[in-house]
Amino acid sequence: MRKVTGSIYGMAVVVILMTMTAAAQQPAAAQSNPQEASATTSAPPAPVHLAAPTTMDQVVDRVIMREKDLIKFLSPRTPIVETYLQNLQQDPALGPIPQDDHYFLGRMDLSESIDRSDYLKDQDKGKDEGMEKHLLGEFTKRFKFQYQPLGFSWMIFADRNDFDRQHYDFHYARREFLGDVRCLVFDLTPKKDAGRGRFLGRIWVEDQDFNIVRLNGTYAHPTRNSYYFHMDSWRLNLVPGYWVPAYIYSEEGDFTAGAKNKIAFKAQTRMWGYNLKAATANDELTNIRVDSVKDDTPTAQDATPLAAEREWQQQAEDNVVERLERAGLLAPEGDVDKILQTVVNNIEITNNIELPRPVRTRVLTTSPLETFSVGNTIVVSRGLIDVLPDEGSLAMVLAHELAHIVLGHNLGSQYAFNDRMLFSDEGTYSNLGFKHIPEEEAAADKKAIEMLKASPYAQKLDSAGLFIKALQARAPQLSALLQAHLGNNIAENGTVVRMAQLANSAPALDWNKLDQIAALPLGGRVKLNPWDDKVEIVKAQPVAITSARDKMPFEVTPFYPRLARFSNAPVANRAASTAATTANASPTPTN
Ligand SMILES: [Zn+2]
Repeated sequence: MRKVTGSIYGMAVVVILMTMTAAAQQPAAAQSNPQEASATTSAPPAPVHLAAPTTMDQVVDRVIMREKDLIKFLSPRTPIVETYLQNLQQDPALGPIPQDDHYFLGRMDLSESIDRSDYLKDQDKGKDEGMEKHLLGEFTKRFKFQYQPLGFSWMIFADRNDFDRQHYDFHYARREFLGDVRCLVFDLTPKKDAGRGRFLGRIWVEDQDFNIVRLNGTYAHPTRNSYYFHMDSWRLNLVPGYWVPAYIYSEEGDFTAGAKNKIAFKAQTRMWGYNLKAATANDELTNIRVDSVKDDTPTAQDATPLAAEREWQQQAEDNVVERLERAGLLAPEGDVDKILQTVVNNIEITNNIELPRPVRTRVLTTSPLETFSVGNTIVVSRGLIDVLPDEGSLAMVLAHELAHIVLGHNLGSQYAFNDRMLFSDEGTYSNLGFKHIPEEEAAADKKAIEMLKASPYAQKLDSAGLFIKALQARAPQLSALLQAHLGNNIAENGTVVRMAQLANSAPALDWNKLDQIAALPLGGRVKLNPWDDKVEIVKAQPVAITSARDKMPFEVTPFYPRLARFSNAPVANRAASTAATTANASPTPTN
């Protein structure tokens, strides 16, 4: 039957696919559905503007057709999927707070079945091994709750194989705007004999091409000892005509008085890297850069020993940056880097630091809080930028890595050998590593504090220290979020080790003080484009905090993206092209 890899995930996939296949073979299966027939005959069709449907039945037919088109469109792709989950406990003052956490990172193969390969082969094995044995979460004999990472990425489609009228009843509910996009809302219920694991919930469909843009619900009829999570799944219009699965929020738990069910968690799943090339061995060989050392000296001469050493380090740096970007773990250079570089420059200038090459910064696309540097490139994770409360704490994070560079703690020169870049994307964490020895960590902290005190951020170190205190307060419960995968851990065994001194001079941490924001929730600052991996800073207006429970430091929250239709051109270009195509081309207003 289906191609299934020999991994433990493969086995799990077989279980659910057999259920789904059995359902598909029932007499009412969809062979005669004309939409399905047309959708399976050709390559993914370019979005075509068909005549507008005139009845709700025609709308439903269009929704079904578009969903099948999307499944086909995404089938050659292998996006990265990341799930970060926090188990919750009830705190009398702060409400549900994290009790412990789990992290999954892998790539989904969307071809025939939904398969998944993992980046975290060995590192998290001890902790999470049990989870990987169970599909969609399951009670073991000891009634310990288990999670299956695939379970969280399951709701990228309503029903991969049987999304049709034979298996579902569609009930039109109402019209509603999600962001800028007007939607038709339908409630979906599986037909009586549709089998297990069918979608049960609500879908939002945009009203131009009738693509599903949001799904919210669960799957019906779990087996006796398994459990389907509730999910809220969002898609973004990142390519013309297609809305691509981007975020899934999942939450279970009941903290009402007397509730018996003790399971409680929140989880965010993000998908990105849709446009990454699936690397083959040939690609890897042809893509290696061998020309990164350019000779731009006026008189051609051999490099001096020191110059040669620096060229060598730059070659290693370029190799690593390029390889991480190709694996979907590093965002392309962009606007966020400009912000980070400004902070680095501020520290450099005020400390009279002159380096032979400028320091560059890049954003790691993942959630765990980590930083590292390779050559003159400082890398900070998306999750860490998210939770930092202000520029002072960002300066603290960057100063530590800048200190490594200033002190000449160069790591990674072995990666100047190109053979060391030849590994599969999933092997990134086992093939690359930038961990300093403890002595270098201590020296970098010391130097960083010295530089910060001489910088424009000297007056803002209180907030940096508060951030350390907040991190310390949560560190024992957030071991997965604090597990670095490429650099040094910020906390070891539940104790913050990075820049810990700054906590000594900071004010007392007080969760009940509403104007003291020591750390932010995850996901509030950096927006990652799931199609091209570009990152940008979210420009949302801050919402007033009205209780201690609103602070949610380091916590997972639901997604609520402001949906908008695809637009390719930057604002300036769009204005220009509009002006050019207007008959009476008038000067484009600038503002
Ligand atoms: Zn360090």
